[in-house]
Amino acid sequence: MSVTQSLQKLKDSLKTSARMPVVFLGHGSPMNAIEDTQFCRGWSELGRTLPRPQAILVVSAHWMTRGSTLVDVSAMPQTIHDFGGFPQQLFQQQYPAPGNPELAREVVSLLASHHAQEDDTWGLDHGAWTVLKYLYPDANVPVFQLSIDMTKDLDWHLEIGKALSDLRDRGVLILGSGNVVHNLRALDWVNGRPRDWAVDFDTMFAKRLDDRDFASLADRQGLGSLLRQAHPSVDHYIPALTIAGASDARDQLDFMNTGFDLGTLSMRSFIFHAQ
Ligand code: ZN
Repeated sequence: MSVTQSLQKLKDSLKTSARMPVVFLGHGSPMNAIEDTQFCRGWSELGRTLPRPQAILVVSAHWMTRGSTLVDVSAMPQTIHDFGGFPQQLFQQQYPAPGNPELAREVVSLLASHHAQEDDTWGLDHGAWTVLKYLYPDANVPVFQLSIDMTKDLDWHLEIGKALSDLRDRGVLILGSGNVVHNLRALDWVNGRPRDWAVDFDTMFAKRLDDRDFASLADRQGLGSLLRQAHPSVDHYIPALTIAGASDARDQLDFMNTGFDLGTLSMRSFIFHAQ
C-alpha cells in the first residue's frame, strides 16, 4: 500500500469514526434474544460493521415516563426482565455492560430544557439488551438508557434526537429500539401474514424517512387512522423519531431487517451513516 493510500485509509477511518452513525432497530419479540432468527443475524452483522463506540445511549420503547425524560446514571445498569409468560431461559439472560454515569449526567444537562432528570432505578430493559447482546456480545461498551416522555407529542421526540446529535462526534452510538409498526392486538399467530395496513404504514414510513420528511412522520393528525392502526400506543414508534431527529441531511440512509414478524410487527431497522 502506498503512502497516499495509507493516508487515504487513515483519513477514511477518521472520517468514519469522527461522527458516529445513528441506528434504529426493530426489536420485536423478546424471544429473539434466545432464538436464531434472520433478525438476530442482521443485528450481529451490523455489530461487526459499525465503528466501535465509546458509549451507547439507548432510547427504548419500554422505558416510558410521564412529565420528564429520565437518564440512567447508574454505574452498573441491571438487566431488566420486563415481560411475562416466556421461558425461564429468557429470564436468565444477563447483559452486564457498565454504565457511564459521567456522560449520562452530561446528557441530563444537554436536555435540561426537555425536563431531563437523573435516575438510578432503571437499567437495561429488554428493548435494549435483547439487541445489544447481538451488536456487542462481550458487553464491554458502556451503555445507558434515556426514557421517553409519553405526555409529549411526537415532534418533541424529534427534537430530543436533534439535541443529542452532537454526541455523535464524541464516539457515542445513539441507538433507538422499538418497531416501525407495532400492534399487539392484531398479531397473526397462525401464518404471520403482514396486514395490509401494516405494510402501508411501513412503506410510507420508509419513503418519508428517505425523503427526510420527518415533520410529516411526527404529524399525528396527518397520519390519522393509519397511525392508530400501526400504533395503538406510540411507545414503539417514538424511538424511531428520536433517531430520525439525530440524523443529518447529509447522512446516508440504509435499511435492514425489512420484513414482519407475526403480521403486525415491522422489524424494519435503519442506519444513518455520517458522510
Ligand atoms: Zn417491545
